[in-house]
Amino acid sequence: MATMIIEGKGVQAASGETYEVRNPATGEVVDKVPAGGAEDVDRAARAAAKAQLTWGKLAPAERAKILHKAAASAREKVDVIGPLLTLEQGKTLLESKLEAERFADNIAWFADLADKVHGQHVNLASTKLTGLVVRRPIGVTGAIVPWNFPLTLAANKIAPSIAAGNCVVLKPSTTTPLATLAAVQALIDGGLPEGVVNVVLGRETGEAIVMHPLIRKIGLTGSTPTGKEVMAKAARHLKKLTLELGGSDPCLIMEDADLDAAAAGVRVGRFFNAGQQCLSTKRVFVHEAVFDEFLEKMTAQAQRLKVGNGMEKETRMGPMHTDTQRGEVEAQVKDALDAGARIVYGGGRPEGDGFDKGNFMNPVILTDVPAGSRMLSEEVFGPALPIVKISDLDEGIRLANDSPYGLGSSIWTRNMAYAFRAINEIEAGYTWVNSVQIAYDELPFGGTKQSGFGKEHGVEAFHEYTEMKSVVIGGLG
Ligand code: NAD
Repeated sequence: MATMIIEGKGVQAASGETYEVRNPATGEVVDKVPAGGAEDVDRAARAAAKAQLTWGKLAPAERAKILHKAAASAREKVDVIGPLLTLEQGKTLLESKLEAERFADNIAWFADLADKVHGQHVNLASTKLTGLVVRRPIGVTGAIVPWNFPLTLAANKIAPSIAAGNCVVLKPSTTTPLATLAAVQALIDGGLPEGVVNVVLGRETGEAIVMHPLIRKIGLTGSTPTGKEVMAKAARHLKKLTLELGGSDPCLIMEDADLDAAAAGVRVGRFFNAGQQCLSTKRVFVHEAVFDEFLEKMTAQAQRLKVGNGMEKETRMGPMHTDTQRGEVEAQVKDALDAGARIVYGGGRPEGDGFDKGNFMNPVILTDVPAGSRMLSEEVFGPALPIVKISDLDEGIRLANDSPYGLGSSIWTRNMAYAFRAINEIEAGYTWVNSVQIAYDELPFGGTKQSGFGKEHGVEAFHEYTEMKSVVIGGLG
């Protein structure tokens, strides 16, 4: 049985309670884990605060060295961590391996920054005093993570935090704790000191992290309603927040686009991880001159998505993570069909041996989806893609912005003027031009509008895990 990790040791919940983690492809129990609560969060927060006293004061180059070794240890275990992720989450082995590698890469990327904290020197006009702006660690930070990308979304919070000299209490989603435990254990095996990253499990631990007085900043990835609730509760303690929330990314495909590249890009953008992605092409707007041709190419791309158990090598799309999640997406598709939409490709559930016990659903592409229907106004967290015809770029940009969300966006065109209009006018935290929606370590990532605020990735994320202090120095001659 897996355990929580507090102060470098495996621990059970204070209550002694446990729960089962199940495989979304088979319904079988993968493991049992502790169902922690507020008492366990308190223990973890105290362990982190204790570790902070030494970790925060280490010479930055020493911290960088430790983190590089820890990252290398996580990289060595990719072949163990990856399959564990498939078993608990459902995604394909290929996707899991990529994610386990990204975890290690992200720790290493921020390890490179650990000894490059820069401040400023500022002339204090009309005085002989010296002004400095220095950056310090914040203290203990909390990381709350959803089930769709348990490892990368944990790394997005842990890596900049510990590189900047903070310690962390991490809470994975209740349904996906196992790969995270294995990845954090790999960091510890690689030399990460005890208490620097602690992992607590159980539904109640999220709120306990938000309410704990020792935890000064929360990084949350989750749904927009959860973000609002966390923000309201964090306000009571005036905690700093990074909120990475829902999205409904638009993709514009113009009359001059490379349609083969666009269709391949949309396949990855929409169907990777069975469409259970925040940053994902969820609404496609195609110019009428190339609409039919694009539908054909998109259909051909979707035909490549062989649905099956993620543990099988030939599978290209695993099951939905939960039955509830599948039901939600099916209801959104039904709402569109009832309002007059038409299925261009796919739909329904796969049948036959091996499918009856899992949360499988086929990819589905729809057109004639009416404005205002759920698929265009809500986040669709699954393999369902609405394709809408537009007559020009003005219409495309207007529809792209007609959403409460503002996370990612993309445009496929060879026209620089079109591209720059999209860059300047689409309300989102990211715009890809003729490229697949993949987030890069080097670029700050985060949403606008109801997709949240704050940045992960990039030097900007590192800075979000530091505090600036102004210093005035006099009396030195
Ligand atoms: P969720 O909001 O239900 O849960 C996310 C995490 O928050 C879980 O660990 C959960 O236990 C915890 N949580 C829930 N309520 C809480 C509360 N009141 N206080 C503290 N913690 C609480 O989300 P989910 O269903 O696990 O994940 C899917 C959602 O996450 C989607 O909306 C998706 O768009 C979003 N997401 C966003 C990004 C991004 O970077 N913007 C990335 C991935 C997923």
